[in-house]
Amino acid sequence: MFHNTLEFAQSLDRTDSLRAFRDRFYFPQIDGKDAIYFTGNSLGLQPKSTQHYVLNELEDWASYGVEGHFHSRMPWFRYQDFLTDQIADLLGAKPVEVVAMNSLTTNLHLLLVSFYRPTKSRYKIICEYDAFPSDLYAVQSQAAFHGFDPEDAIVYLKPRDGEVALRDEDVLSAIGKHADTLSTVMLGAVNYYTGQFFDLAAISSAAHQVGATVGFNLAHAAGNVLLRLHDWNVDYACFCSYKYLNAGPGGVSGIFVHERFADDHTIPRLAGWWGNDPETRFKMPRTFVPAQGARSWQQSNAPVLSMSALKASLDIFSDAGMMPSLRAKSEQLTGFLEFIIAQINTSLSEPLIDIITPSMPSRRGCQLSMVFRKDGRDIFRQLTESGIIVDWREPDVIRVAPVPLYNSYEDVFRFGECLKQILTHRQR
Ligand SMILES: *Cc1c(COP(=O)(O)O)cnc(C)c1O
Repeated sequence: MFHNTLEFAQSLDRTDSLRAFRDRFYFPQIDGKDAIYFTGNSLGLQPKSTQHYVLNELEDWASYGVEGHFHSRMPWFRYQDFLTDQIADLLGAKPVEVVAMNSLTTNLHLLLVSFYRPTKSRYKIICEYDAFPSDLYAVQSQAAFHGFDPEDAIVYLKPRDGEVALRDEDVLSAIGKHADTLSTVMLGAVNYYTGQFFDLAAISSAAHQVGATVGFNLAHAAGNVLLRLHDWNVDYACFCSYKYLNAGPGGVSGIFVHERFADDHTIPRLAGWWGNDPETRFKMPRTFVPAQGARSWQQSNAPVLSMSALKASLDIFSDAGMMPSLRAKSEQLTGFLEFIIAQINTSLSEPLIDIITPSMPSRRGCQLSMVFRKDGRDIFRQLTESGIIVDWREPDVIRVAPVPLYNSYEDVFRFGECLKQILTHRQR
């Protein structure tokens, strides 16, 4: 039971075991004050410790030069290994199934090279019609690369008429419908626009039943929702680290490849020396011998400066008790935001806001996407001018993401007060 009062919000903050983590982040300043920041789904805030982690690597580079590969405090030749356990924990994976490398769209392509292997009869890719554009370009260009017409090869899934979110059952029936021609299913695990979290276990099992592979883009899922990729039998996945994982602009990405494939050398992959078995990597063999598991998809030596920023953030996740503890707060914090928006809506002479994010907590992360029936752009501008950073998506959507690591219940309350003031003023 929630109440829309400052006292109530502050009482929730007082009993929040994660409240101190807010102080570990820098908040953008607007008019000399901390902004209310609700765009951690786009670019997570900078941990205050990040500078220290990056500086350590700069110092070791200065002190050791090339010797830093082996003699720095966290030797660069195996820097990726320092991140593996925590990433595995975040994704519900085994350490052998994950590695940090490259950037996100690049990784999606590398995984499709391995898991989208179309034949004349089995060549279709299922994806969302409203997928993030980069994902659309990736699947379209992969289909074309293999000599298929993307219009024919790609099955775009749209929500039903009058609905905004794609139903899991409709994903499953599309898989059944294309059973004989389907090569792979590739979806955003949490849709970037609506915030919907798909039923990955059910989708994964349906894809396997018809003999297709299945992969997910975790850009909006990693660090946001509870994932059990290993148990759900997902084949492949990739994530970025600059959204909920707070590793900074363009931060290093990472991949998941199921343990089933850990020793499968028959899967084609675009190889590079960093994916070679570390035992022989520096003997510079002329023939590629894949390392075990996801690591064999690495191509280049680790981007240590970017990875050190990710390490800073992962250590905060560890201190916070990782996803189970964050997710418990997240559900309540997002629930509080939903409650406040509903209150504002009913206080207006006619409702103005439709939340298009699923109302079931298990089917969403922390983001709520609101459609404004009118004046959305102006309202967005006024929120920004009032020191509240949210995100605008054409044509009429404001996305708000209260992040459990650094947002408070008071942030949510103050957002509501500000929005109410803007709206009642406009209705006069
Ligand atoms: C953020 C995001 C991207 C961005 O891709 P980059 O290669 O990191 O620029 C791609 N896909 C999805 C689903 C995203 O949410």
